[in-house]
Amino acid sequence: MADRKNIYFYYKETEKIHKDLNNLMNQMAENGFKVVNSAKDANIIASIGGDGDFLQCIRRTGFRDDCLYAGFSNTDQLSFYCDFYLDHPETIMDAIHNQQMKVRRYPIIEVTIDDELSYLCINEFSIQSAIVKTFILDVYINNLQLETFRGDGLVISTPTGSTAYNKSVHGAVVDPKLACMQITELGSLNNNRYRTLGSPFIVSADKTVTLIVGKEGNEHPIMAIDNEALSIRQVEKIQIKLSDKKIKTVKLKDNTFWHKVKRTFL
Ligand code: NAD
Repeated sequence: MADRKNIYFYYKETEKIHKDLNNLMNQMAENGFKVVNSAKDANIIASIGGDGDFLQCIRRTGFRDDCLYAGFSNTDQLSFYCDFYLDHPETIMDAIHNQQMKVRRYPIIEVTIDDELSYLCINEFSIQSAIVKTFILDVYINNLQLETFRGDGLVISTPTGSTAYNKSVHGAVVDPKLACMQITELGSLNNNRYRTLGSPFIVSADKTVTLIVGKEGNEHPIMAIDNEALSIRQVEKIQIKLSDKKIKTVKLKDNTFWHKVKRTFL
């Protein structure tokens, strides 16, 4: 962090944020940082808010892999992507001066729709039926057709996304040092006619998962990248793989992913 000095703040304007943010910006300036007005000029990007704001911050600033991202919580609770309190700027200053900061690298997912449009996700890509009818998807791992899925849909998550939507649908919590993605089912149909694996599965970084949408009146599914819905109306093929990029975030030495898991869930 020592050689990175241009910091951009991403936030939604509120009166409360403004007061605390001014204080943080002043402390940053006093410690040799330059607050810039455009993310393009930054090599540190700070998100103010909750996890949802952090997801939006990364998306709006283009999933930069040449920047460090930092999440500042504007509540009295830290969250998965927010390691610092907005109203305690001295914590981050002390950490910088005492070399207590570490850089984490988070794997992200790249989703390509019908060989044309590509999107990145830091939590997950999800696909669900938009109508009250069984959704059919052929699921491939590289060239192997693994199964024909029938049910409500699928969630494909990153390791950091494993504690989000994925966890609610009984996926495993995955250490972000493992570069992989996890596929979890939403309401699969399993009987003597239809069969899916029925359990979440994790694929390695060299695999591509391809979903072919069945042509049975369900070509208009709801698709989401993190907390944003895709406005695409029709889809046939979706390819999902780990991106070559990683998102770099700053953290305090004693605040690992597993500290967060314990703090949040146990
Ligand atoms: P938000 O900040 O309101 O987030 C909602 C909750 O999800 C918050 O408690 C937040 O801390 C938590 N969260 C977000 N990412 C997390 C992560 N990686 N690990 C652990 N907790 C996490 O913002 P939002 O825009 O509503 O959040 C979007 C996320 O919500 C999506 O990416 C998806 O993962 C999740 N989601 C969950 C469900 C579900 O659990 N049934 C359904 C839809 C979306």
